[in-house]
Amino acid sequence: MTSAKTTPRTLLVISAHAGDFVWRAGGAIALAAARGERAKVVCLSFGERGESAKAWRAGRTLDEIKAIRREEAENAATTLGAEIEFLDAGDYPLVETTELVDRLVGVYRELAPDVVLTHPLADPYNGDHPAAARMALQARVLAQAAGYDAPGEPLGAPPVFFFEPHQPEQCDFKPDVLLDITAVFDRKRKAMECLPAQQHMWDYYTDLAKRRGVQLRRNAGPNLGLPHDTMGEAYMRLYPQVTGVLE
Ligand SMILES: [Zn+2]
Repeated sequence: MTSAKTTPRTLLVISAHAGDFVWRAGGAIALAAARGERAKVVCLSFGERGESAKAWRAGRTLDEIKAIRREEAENAATTLGAEIEFLDAGDYPLVETTELVDRLVGVYRELAPDVVLTHPLADPYNGDHPAAARMALQARVLAQAAGYDAPGEPLGAPPVFFFEPHQPEQCDFKPDVLLDITAVFDRKRKAMECLPAQQHMWDYYTDLAKRRGVQLRRNAGPNLGLPHDTMGEAYMRLYPQVTGVLE
């Protein structure tokens, strides 16, 4: 599809906690940045209560943990080539509020993203992830409304992709997009290593990228000559693909 837009494409990633965007969408972010696109991550919280067990066990205070997780996520975002903004809305629970949705509307209007990535709408292990997704989607719709009172122009209809949750089978997650992240996987791994608070995830998400890479090769056909070490990330589309050519 052609676009009238002349500015570089922009990617918006809405993440419940400070680490989510790295494990699940680090490859997509690094690819966008490598193409010279603008990539922005919005973290609704630092994951300070629910995803920082190591720091709690080490006796850190809440404020210390928030500062640690902020610095880690900033380093990871810089490694991937993305901007990052923290809304510090609190986690466990991440409470959905009109004010928070309105702040996200402001992000949409300011950024005018071409693509949006967020969590799937179901996650029986983690209520914050679906809450973040619901707010991300609600804000997208409100940002489209000409009469919604926020600075900037009404938003178009950027496609939304759900990134892969930690327990995909329980979250109604069935990959329908496999993204080849081989070219940037080293960068994703470096970004993951910026998050020592969740060191147990580094190898887990490296192994997942290998498995999704195998699946990617299988679906790309045997004759494309993809390298054996293809690495992948899986996504689900929320809205139909818009195209003039079936491919
Ligand atoms: Zn999370």
